[in-house]
Amino acid sequence: MDRGRLAHLLERERDLYARRNPRSAQLFADAGHLFGRVPMPWMNKRAGAFPIYLDTARGATVTDVDGNSYADFALGDTAAMAGHSPAPVLAAVQDRLTHRGGATAMMPTEDGEWVGAELTRRFGPTRWSFALTATDANRWAIRIVRAVTGRPKILFHAYCYHGSVDESLIVTGPHGPVPRAGNVGAPTDVTTTSRVAEYNDLAALEAELAHGDVAAVLMEPALTNIGIVLPDDGYLAGVRDLTRRYGALLINDETHTFSAGPGGCTRAWDLDPDLVVLGKAIGGGIPAAAFGMSAEFAERTLARTDLDLIDMGGVGGTMAGNALSLAATRATLGEVLTEAAFEHMTGLAADYADGVQAVIDAHGLPWSLSRLGARVEYRFAPSPRNGTQSHLAQDDDLDDYLHIFLANRGVMLTPFHNMALTCPDTTADDVRQHLDLFGAAVAQLLGDG
Ligand code: PMP
Repeated sequence: MDRGRLAHLLERERDLYARRNPRSAQLFADAGHLFGRVPMPWMNKRAGAFPIYLDTARGATVTDVDGNSYADFALGDTAAMAGHSPAPVLAAVQDRLTHRGGATAMMPTEDGEWVGAELTRRFGPTRWSFALTATDANRWAIRIVRAVTGRPKILFHAYCYHGSVDESLIVTGPHGPVPRAGNVGAPTDVTTTSRVAEYNDLAALEAELAHGDVAAVLMEPALTNIGIVLPDDGYLAGVRDLTRRYGALLINDETHTFSAGPGGCTRAWDLDPDLVVLGKAIGGGIPAAAFGMSAEFAERTLARTDLDLIDMGGVGGTMAGNALSLAATRATLGEVLTEAAFEHMTGLAADYADGVQAVIDAHGLPWSLSRLGARVEYRFAPSPRNGTQSHLAQDDDLDDYLHIFLANRGVMLTPFHNMALTCPDTTADDVRQHLDLFGAAVAQLLGDG
């Protein structure tokens, strides 16, 4: 890799980006009342000098305020995996807001039971509770498993991401576990609340579980937030065996791995977790999240009169399970993210993966690619087996070059990774457009184009 050439190309793409997006540049320059000039500081994760501002979004296409359109493979980092404003969700939201009114009224609606039953059919657990973000669903699941088991710690995989959950910001270090770099205002030393093991390392997991103080392992069945890292054969079965042997519960966070199919990895790989967490995509763009458990676990928890599960005991939120959120979730699960939709999405993701692999092979690059159903990710290194290896394989300049090259020509990837996700509205043309551009970006980088 010629680093000088990469730096030169990156600069050229950044110039083009600035010329293509004058209105976005102006809006950013004028934003004086926002923390970091953006509604949420992570919106500053971008390859150019300013973020691109959204104007409209429909299906798999977004258009920015300068009138540029993009085939959107970012899809709100999974929150828009159902596509942007899918018609059934729009209809359900309109019905709730316009015809019936009452987005949030401190009263249950009948949509809740429908959604619970559908989540049971897809993911297995038979009792569900709702939140507005996957972060909150994870936080509340953590509190409950600690209360029920009477054990203090939660075990995570290094370089996992489960939202802004205090307990999860832990990684392995050369001399033992350490807080993840950059952890903002940690309430306590994370090693007192958490344990950590590398993904795909059963011996390390067993050594941590053997302390006997782990309430639950909270994990994604495949890591997706440090690139996709898939499980080795037997790893997930080993995790299940070990958690049972050492009396720890297993929580599968399927917020991203929902891309594996209609029932996420839990169904696709026949997993048997004690709890399942979902978020983002289930609301079709409206904030919604959920966590599910067995009936037996639910009864045992509810029977604990010392736990305040109704008022201020640390679990719950005023707007969690609100009428609008559940109406949108019912429409998303019932009519948008269906079995047929997943077939379409997965087929296109497979084409995308094959095309990227062909470019990698044609140039003999030491890069790799992983796919989890509708989600594909490429990396500038051979396939990592765990989070730390994947973290070390990151190449920010190469990431930025590919992202900005694609954005300048009408394709959007998730800014945090080289992640592409398909939605029910993604087309074969969208995939072809990305592949043509990916091929051109690589050829230019290598001086072949
Ligand atoms: N769990 C997983 C697996 C995630 O990827 C994320 C966000 N990327 C979250 C939880 C948190 O979701 P949110 O930010 O919507 O709370």
